[in-house]
Amino acid sequence: MSQTTYNRALEIMGDVCIGCSHCMKVCPTEALRVSQGKAKIHVDWCIDCGECYRICPNRAIRVMDDDFKQIFNYKHRVLLVPSVFFAQFDDSIPREKIYNIIGELGFTEVCAVEQSVDTLIDEVNEYIKRAPLPVISSFCPAVIRLIQVRFPSLVDHIMSLLPPIEITAQYYKRKFAKEGIKEGEFGIFYLTPCIAKIASVKSPVGGYTSPIHGVINMDFFYNKVYLAHKQKIPITRQIKINGELSSKGVLYPTTGGESMHIKGKTLAIDGMDNVIDFLEILENEEIEGFDFLELRACDESCAGGILSHRNRFLTAESMKKYASTIPDTHNLISDYKKYCSAVVHMDKIEPRSMVKYDRDIDAAIKKMEGARELRMLFPGIDCGACGAPSCEALAEDIVKGQAEISSCIFLRTLYEKRGEISLEEAVKIMENIWGKSRFDKKI
Ligand code: SF4
Ligand code: SF4
Repeated sequence: MSQTTYNRALEIMGDVCIGCSHCMKVCPTEALRVSQGKAKIHVDWCIDCGECYRICPNRAIRVMDDDFKQIFNYKHRVLLVPSVFFAQFDDSIPREKIYNIIGELGFTEVCAVEQSVDTLIDEVNEYIKRAPLPVISSFCPAVIRLIQVRFPSLVDHIMSLLPPIEITAQYYKRKFAKEGIKEGEFGIFYLTPCIAKIASVKSPVGGYTSPIHGVINMDFFYNKVYLAHKQKIPITRQIKINGELSSKGVLYPTTGGESMHIKGKTLAIDGMDNVIDFLEILENEEIEGFDFLELRACDESCAGGILSHRNRFLTAESMKKYASTIPDTHNLISDYKKYCSAVVHMDKIEPRSMVKYDRDIDAAIKKMEGARELRMLFPGIDCGACGAPSCEALAEDIVKGQAEISSCIFLRTLYEKRGEISLEEAVKIMENIWGKSRFDKKI
């Protein structure tokens, strides 16, 4: 059954938004509109890619992460740390120091997220032998959502194997159970470099439920750790460190880190525009012969995640440097193999129920035809003055009753010239889109 409700990872703060429409112009799913001088997100269409968050000049978009204090609701508190986090710091700060500070900040155990990668690679190589090719990696949640929303015909190609973070979390859930620690006594927290991963933990795909109790914003936590380091806080307690990690694991979140281990013809693509360009040609069947596609929404993959503090190139370089100093295997592989095979599969991923026109098929077809006719009337220059990102999006909004033809500045001017609407009515329409205060300014 397709999912119909989604947790969001971003929120527009109405009192800070100035309705400049920068966000609307970059949204890859046309999920944003400007109305009454404020940007508004269409929740079902948003894929939590964070492009709007990156570009907003007014910092009007807030990340809806979990409250850090909630970690103290649990006696045992494990933090799953991605390798990209350690690469935020320069080499002069040793990892041991960072682990100790994490303990001082409240965690009882720290574990590397990519510990499950070595085992997952074997599972992926088995998976592609029997799946429809090309297999598209399930690593990047923004790409999964993009395909669900914009390229539904490709959903069958998305690999139905869990990403590393979920497998590592499952390992911990079993580890705690084996140690006799009851549900409710332990909390599993994930430090995320990316907002799409916040949404994917809260609203997972493939009929899966995540054992992760909370997601912590990496940018926020980096600042906390760095401040504690600068203030030289005393280290008063020992935490358990599960730092087993291979070079494969460290590099997995970087571009090419996944595809380089998969047998067959593979391709690694990063950056939202590049991914969309490629998916368009894949959907049009203009490309074939690939076994595996690693597609990541951010430039430089997780090193370029929006909650990453450091320059993405320096972060990726730091990860490569660290990987070159550690072995390409680790001591917990047999343990992970045991847990992994039992939990690694999820159900088939479904297209996202993005009701573009209407839930009723006949009504939807009528509206679609209406929108096609309307598009012919509009100038096709996608100016955005109507508060929608394109003439096509405005046509769709009109047939759904969410906008008027006169929202188009070109047609409105024509109607004014013909005397079909008054100047006052034309100004009112502009105020409805861009906000009254924008027109109140004294010259
Ligand atoms: S970019 Fe979007 S959210 Fe930010 S101020 Fe402009 S309209 Fe508002
Ligand atoms: S997070 Fe991405 S999909 Fe969602 S509104 Fe922002 S730009 Fe659009």
